[in-house]
Amino acid sequence: VTGTEQRFHDLVQRLGEIADLERAAGLLGWDEETKMPPLGAPERAEQRATLTRIAHELETAPELGELLEELRPFEEQHDRDSFEASVVRITRRDYEKAVRVPAELRADMTRTGSHGYRAWLEARANKDYRILLPLLERGLELTREYVACFEPDGDPYDVLLDVYEPGMKTAEVEAVFDRLKEELLPMIAAVSEPVDDGCLHGRFAPEAQRRFSLEVLELWGMDEEAWRLDDTVHPFALSLAPADIRLTTNFRDSDLHGVLSCLHEFGHGLYERQIDPAYARTPLARGVSSGFHESQSRLWENLVGRNIATWRFLFPRLRATFPEQFSAVSVETFHRALNRVEPTMRRVDSDEVTYCLHIILRFELERDLLSGSVALADLPDAFDAKMEEYLGLRPNDVVEGVLQDVHWSEGGFGYFPTYALGNVISVQLWERAAADLGDLDERFERGEFAPLHEWLGENVHRWGRVLTPQELLERAAGGPLDAEPYLAYLRRKLDQLYAGAVG
Ligand code: ZN
Repeated sequence: VTGTEQRFHDLVQRLGEIADLERAAGLLGWDEETKMPPLGAPERAEQRATLTRIAHELETAPELGELLEELRPFEEQHDRDSFEASVVRITRRDYEKAVRVPAELRADMTRTGSHGYRAWLEARANKDYRILLPLLERGLELTREYVACFEPDGDPYDVLLDVYEPGMKTAEVEAVFDRLKEELLPMIAAVSEPVDDGCLHGRFAPEAQRRFSLEVLELWGMDEEAWRLDDTVHPFALSLAPADIRLTTNFRDSDLHGVLSCLHEFGHGLYERQIDPAYARTPLARGVSSGFHESQSRLWENLVGRNIATWRFLFPRLRATFPEQFSAVSVETFHRALNRVEPTMRRVDSDEVTYCLHIILRFELERDLLSGSVALADLPDAFDAKMEEYLGLRPNDVVEGVLQDVHWSEGGFGYFPTYALGNVISVQLWERAAADLGDLDERFERGEFAPLHEWLGENVHRWGRVLTPQELLERAAGGPLDAEPYLAYLRRKLDQLYAGAVG
C-alpha cells in the first residue's frame, strides 16, 4: 500500500463516519414520523440537531480539505467514472460548497425554518397570513445571504437551484417551463368536461389497501428482506443502506390515494436500492438530484401506475380485494377515473396535465421574491392572480392559496422546479427504455415489470452521484432536457381518454 493509497483509505474512512451520522439522523427522523410517541418531540429535535451538527463539522473540517488537496494527483491517475476519482471529485465539490457558508448562517437558516414551520401551522389554523409573514421575511433575508456566499455572476436563482439540481441554470428551466406553459394552457382549456371518477370514492379498508399495495410492489420488485412499508402523515421514502429501504404511506378509507402514494414512493426507493452497493457509506450513494429522484417516482406512479396496460393485469386483483366497489366497474372506466383531468386548488391533488402549471407559477413567484419585484406582503394576492391566470381558479382563502405548501415557510426556495423537471425527465427516460426493450405495454399486460426495473438499474440508478445530472440524462436518455416527449405523452393520453367521450 503506497502512501497515497493510505490517504485515500483515510478519506473513505472519514466519509464513512459522516455517512453513518447522516443515516442515523435520518433514522431518528423516520422514527419521529412513524413510531415515536408525540411527547418525545422536544428531545428528538435536539438529538437530530446534535447528529447533524457533528456531521457538518466533519464535512467542513480543514483536515478534510487538506486530504482532498493531497489526493489531486491520485484523482487524475484514475478514470473519471472510477470509484476512486469519483469519491474525491464529488467530496471536493460538496466540501467547496459547504465551506462557503458560515456555520452561524446555516444554524440560523435551520432555526428560522423550524420556527417558520410552526408559524405556518398556526397561520393555517387561523387563516391568517400575517402570522407567517415575519418569518418568511427573515427566511428570505437569510436566503439572500446564502446566495451572496457564492458571489454569483449570473442569475442569483442559479445558486438556489444548484442545491437541488446541481449544474442546472435558471435560463434552462425557464425555457422548458415557457414551452410547457405554451402547450398546457390550451390543452387544459380543451378538456371541457371532466370524466366521472365516482368509482374511486367509497369505502376502502386500509388493511386491504395495504395488502393490495404490497402485492403490487412485490410484483414490481420490492424484495421483502430489504424494504419496509409503514404508516405516516405525509408520505416519504428513505434509504438507510442499499438494502434498507423505508417507504411510508397514509391510507385513508375514503379513497385509494394511499395506494398511489405507495407507487410513487416505490420509485424513490427503487432508485436508492439499485445504486451500486460498492458506493455505500460514501457521498456517491445517493440519487444525483431532486429532479432525477422525482423522475423515478413519477415514472412508476404515472407512466406505469396510471397506464391501462398495467391495470389490465392488476385490475382483477384490485376487484378481488374490493369486490363491492369494483365488481360492476370495467377496467376502462377505472382507468379513465384514475386519469381524470381537472384544475384543482391544491398542487398535491392535481393531475398529470395541470400539475406543471402549479409548479411554474411557484417558480415565477420565487424569482420575483428573490429579485424584490414582488414583496412578501403582497405574495397572497400575487399567488391568487397566477392561480386564476393559469388554472382558472380563485382561492377562497390563504389556506387554499399561498399557505397550501410548507416549502417557503421552511426557507425551501428553489425546490419547486424539481417536481416539474421530474415529470419531463420521466418521459425522456421512458421513451429510451421503450426503444431498448420493445413494447412495454405488452409486457405490463402480462405482469412483466422486471425488464423496466432492470433497465433503470443499469442505465440510471447504479451510477449514484458519479455522473452529473446532465451527463446522466445524456447517457440514459440520449439528449439534454427536453419538454417535447412529455408534451407528446400528455397529448396521446388525452386523445386516448377523451376519444368519443367528450364533445
Ligand atoms: Zn416524490
